[in-house]
Amino acid sequence: MAQKLRRKETTVYNIEAIASTYFLEKELSKKDIRSEMRTSMTPQQTDVAIVGLGPAGIGVVHRLLEQDTDFDIACFDLGPRPEEKNCAVLNDAGCIRRTGCHILTGFGGSSLLSGGKLSTLPAGDSLIDITEDTNDVERTITEALAFFNDYLAIAEPTISPEEIEAHRLRFEDNGFDLNYYDAHVMIESEEKIRQAYCEMCKDLESARTSFHFNTKVVRIEETEDHFTLYTTNSRGEEEKCVCNNIILGVGLSGDVLLENLQRQFDIQTKPSKLEMGVRLEFPRDVFPEIDQGHKDLKLHRGNCRTFCVCKGGQLAPYFHDSMSLLDGHVDRTNLTDFTNLGLRLRLPSSKDNDRIYSVIRENYLEATSGIPIRESYTSYVGNANKDIMTRDESSINYWKPGDINNLFPEKYAEELRQNVIKFVDEVIPEKRHSEVNVYAPGLYYPGFEFEVNRNFEVSDSMYIIGEGTGQFRGILQAFSSGLLCAESIAEKLQ
Ligand SMILES: Cc1cc2nc3c(=O)[nH]c(=O)nc-3n(C[C@H](O)[C@H](O)[C@H](O)COP(=O)(O)OP(=O)(O)OC[C@H]3O[C@@H](n4cnc5c(N)ncnc54)[C@H](O)[C@@H]3O)c2cc1C
Repeated sequence: MAQKLRRKETTVYNIEAIASTYFLEKELSKKDIRSEMRTSMTPQQTDVAIVGLGPAGIGVVHRLLEQDTDFDIACFDLGPRPEEKNCAVLNDAGCIRRTGCHILTGFGGSSLLSGGKLSTLPAGDSLIDITEDTNDVERTITEALAFFNDYLAIAEPTISPEEIEAHRLRFEDNGFDLNYYDAHVMIESEEKIRQAYCEMCKDLESARTSFHFNTKVVRIEETEDHFTLYTTNSRGEEEKCVCNNIILGVGLSGDVLLENLQRQFDIQTKPSKLEMGVRLEFPRDVFPEIDQGHKDLKLHRGNCRTFCVCKGGQLAPYFHDSMSLLDGHVDRTNLTDFTNLGLRLRLPSSKDNDRIYSVIRENYLEATSGIPIRESYTSYVGNANKDIMTRDESSINYWKPGDINNLFPEKYAEELRQNVIKFVDEVIPEKRHSEVNVYAPGLYYPGFEFEVNRNFEVSDSMYIIGEGTGQFRGILQAFSSGLLCAESIAEKLQ
């Protein structure tokens, strides 16, 4: 493949090559293509294009601006600026099912309306497998934490090694391993966190950077010595950007773009892991010490794990692949009376995962058209008739009653149910089991694990960072991958 030139090039379009992809994707006529190309014959040109302004993309921009270089950076995000991010479900209404769910997209990506926990190594230690350099990962995770701390109040974990050991022993009896790592917590209100992200955004927009919000990158073409990005904005206007280096920090919401690029550039991948499960929600006073051992109570039992404890929080159903999938959110100055946490089975990387994911998706769409399903715990474990709870017993107003076991293939449904029973028996007194609700599905399937090299490059001058790699999740981990990728690009362009 041709070496990308740093120097900006006069753009020459290969009409036939572009036309064939247009035909494939949009079924436009040749006349349409020529008229579309005429509308945007003066593309923006830049040295580095960044697609996605979640923590990974923010990490890249931050580091590139710190370097003493003069190259231009153009950033695209299909979602809005931080001040415009708004989720109807978190505001107690129904999901408006927009393509580009605001929990997942816009400045900050999935981190702005998140659980607000910043976990350090060994969380996301697959980053070390990628970079093969523990020191670099430790250094950049520390820098990522410091970056967020510059904008936000963040509470450090205060637990002692003796307390960690006591928690480990408590759960060990029931076959759960406690997987401890430090989780720092964003302690400010949702509004303050949003303001902090607005500040970040303002600081990163500079003479060298151009930010394009509500602008989706729909396709990327490679010509001899540059890439052309094709974008569409919320007004339906189509534009192009020509660049020498492209960094994709598109996270889960960029799955379709990544899948297309994987085929087009023949990028090496392996199937990703598949996570399926439920979220439990119960009154906060049922298990008030849930966050004492670890802010996220990471327990493992066989294929099953608990994660993302939201004490005083809300369920956060994000809209993805036509389904609402469950995660958690906390506004720490506006706590609810509920605690929720995830409990999922994780299946190892396998080609079968595609099929299993499709089965669960089909079951879900058939059952409720993709609206979260709720069932009382007693009904879920088979001790009572299916019952419908009143609205007051939930942190959100967006769910339908249903049979959660029917969502999953039988053997996984059973494995999951046994783990839920073990967990609830362990932490919740029996007389309060009737106050526990089960919501589903929690479903996580990126589809691919990309074989990135130690600089996150997947093809000449094309890089994939953050959660989109399919290899790790987490706010600090995504940001750290952005820093590391920027460092290698800056070195190349110097
Ligand atoms: C509800 C929820 C709660 C979470 N809570 C926590 C937590 O407490 N702690 C933690 O560490 N992690 C948490 N996570 C996970 C964490 O937020 C993600 O792992 C992290 O944000 C990934 O960062 P990223 O930059 O790789 O991707 P993302 O944050 O997903 O950002 C990707 C960006 O790319 C943009 N994009 C995608 N496709 C395109 C395209 N074609 N064109 C232009 N732009 C595009 C999107 O709009 C988005 O802004 C949570 C996730 C969710 C959904």
